[in-house]
Amino acid sequence: MDEATPPTPKMKRVYCNRCKLETNHVERGTHRRADSGEHGFWDETVYTLWTCAGCDDGTMETAWTMAGMEDGEKQIYDFSYAPTRAEEDLSQKVFRQLPKQLKLNYGEAVSAYNHRLHVLSAAGLRALIEGICQDKKIKGKNLEQRIDCLETILPKNIVQNLHGFRFMGNEALHDLGAPDSKDLRLAIEVSEDLLNFLYELDYKASRLPKKAKPQPQEASNTGSQPRAGAE
Ligand SMILES: [Zn+2]
Repeated sequence: MDEATPPTPKMKRVYCNRCKLETNHVERGTHRRADSGEHGFWDETVYTLWTCAGCDDGTMETAWTMAGMEDGEKQIYDFSYAPTRAEEDLSQKVFRQLPKQLKLNYGEAVSAYNHRLHVLSAAGLRALIEGICQDKKIKGKNLEQRIDCLETILPKNIVQNLHGFRFMGNEALHDLGAPDSKDLRLAIEVSEDLLNFLYELDYKASRLPKKAKPQPQEASNTGSQPRAGAE
């Protein structure tokens, strides 16, 4: 062999934000930083740049450990990735007919969810439901009552689902505990159904290809002239 065989690259399975699935990643370089202090304390951070073997997208991994973080003989590392892995992220649906303010509330609720800001996401969802009630002129003393009154324009099961989210019933925003991630995800999906039902269905129906209208019988025997420019 006249050429040195390149070292086999280190590989690792990591979720790829671009491929949207877990793929093989190739190690491109590492940097290690270690600190030590008094009484035998030390900690270590290892930065590794990985690239996806499929799409070539890069990801920085930070692996951190310290004295005492071990399992028998093995050191335990805490891993994080930049950009954040989007495995659990929700993608924002496109609503073309939504009033501007509601679009903003919906977008911020999803974005806060994706940034793991659950209280803010729940607050955004409440603002969205409040905004819908206002837009649809739904009256009621509090949010719970207004959700009840949504039954006049929404299928009953969607309204019942909305009541199922405890953070919707909590009057004061400062009483909002962080809702469970699964609950919040479901609440966002229910809100999407609601937006779809209230704002998009007509729009989508209007975009269906128009069926050819039956030609009026008299058109063929009145001898009417085609309009100028008609095809
Ligand atoms: Zn990829």
